[in-house]
Amino acid sequence: MALSGMRGLSVFISDIRNCQNKEQERLRVDKELGNIRTRFKNEKGLTPYEKKKYVWKMLYIYMLGYDVDFGHMEAVSLISAPKYPEKQLEVRIERVMERSDRKRKRARRHKHRSNQTETNKHKKIGEDEESAANNTKSQGGSKSSTFLDKMRARLSGGHFRMINEKLYTCTGNEALDYFKEDPALFNVYHTGYQEQMSHWPEQPVNIIVKWLKDHNPSLIVADFGCGDARLARNVKNKVFSFDLVSNDPSVITCDMSNTPLDSSFIDVAVFCLSLMGTNFPSYLQEAQRVLKPCGWLLIAEVKSRFDPNTGGADPDRFSKAICELGFTSVSKDFSNKMFILLYFKKKEKQNSKVKEIEWPELKPCLYKRR
Ligand code: SAH
Repeated sequence: MALSGMRGLSVFISDIRNCQNKEQERLRVDKELGNIRTRFKNEKGLTPYEKKKYVWKMLYIYMLGYDVDFGHMEAVSLISAPKYPEKQLEVRIERVMERSDRKRKRARRHKHRSNQTETNKHKKIGEDEESAANNTKSQGGSKSSTFLDKMRARLSGGHFRMINEKLYTCTGNEALDYFKEDPALFNVYHTGYQEQMSHWPEQPVNIIVKWLKDHNPSLIVADFGCGDARLARNVKNKVFSFDLVSNDPSVITCDMSNTPLDSSFIDVAVFCLSLMGTNFPSYLQEAQRVLKPCGWLLIAEVKSRFDPNTGGADPDRFSKAICELGFTSVSKDFSNKMFILLYFKKKEKQNSKVKEIEWPELKPCLYKRR
């Protein structure tokens, strides 16, 4: 079946082409995605023709540069179905995708050149990762990955970025509800997260593992936002691992602003790239509650979130706010390219006067499309 045989698709493409501006285009795309989403929810009612039509529409929307946040598996399974006859269309889509990649890269190179000012010395996380990703691509060789692999990677990459953005722009409680509603999203998020991390020269969690190995193994640890609980798996300490959702029964699932731990119970509180929610001060407050006097607070965060030159928080202001919460700053490590490390100790005696703390805003860490 040629593309021209799909009337709905042709109408959609011509609607998009007739849009006068980006806003109109976005509205038309949103409308279409809403329609497709509804149709895919009740997949039984879809004919094979309709399924194909919607998948083509999603691919087209994707090629326009929008994130397509659902229907990935439908698209992938449809394209991989043995009966799927349009092999040559795969090739065609692949060509279009490559062309759009080249265009995007050219536009970025152009933007990069014209932006090469003082501030550009401070790279954004996505740019670093992008170059690392490109290296990996050239090492892996694009020829060896199939069309399907590429589609899968692109579609789930978009989905990961969408969930990631959601987590940085809502409260912990909202994030908990979001994952409770659809726990599968958590796996999508973590697959994408591990993919991003695999391009970092060093993993912050490994530095924290090393720190714990250099200290007494009898220290009790709380890992706030533990992800796949790598920390607990790599140290001898007793570790309480917290996250919003997990397949791992050793992980306690909750919003970490409200853990089931007793007050003054743990020796080390760890936040490794997990200060995501807009209410992040309440996570630190919870750590302050559960830590013993003189207990350690270790924070690893994405460097770009603390770069005032690019809209990030001033690390000194952040540190000061934590001290006002009842901590003493012990040391800071800015030597790593991708993340910063902050070490605090809980004060032995807490100030009885509760002062309103002025927390700096922490900008979201948004990963760029590759
Ligand atoms: N610390 C891990 C994972 C970092 S990803 C590592 O370094 O590998 C950040 C994690 O924080 C995610 O798994 C996310 O689900 C979790 N997280 C974010 N907000 C949370 C909250 N309010 N409560 C519990 N976990 C949270």
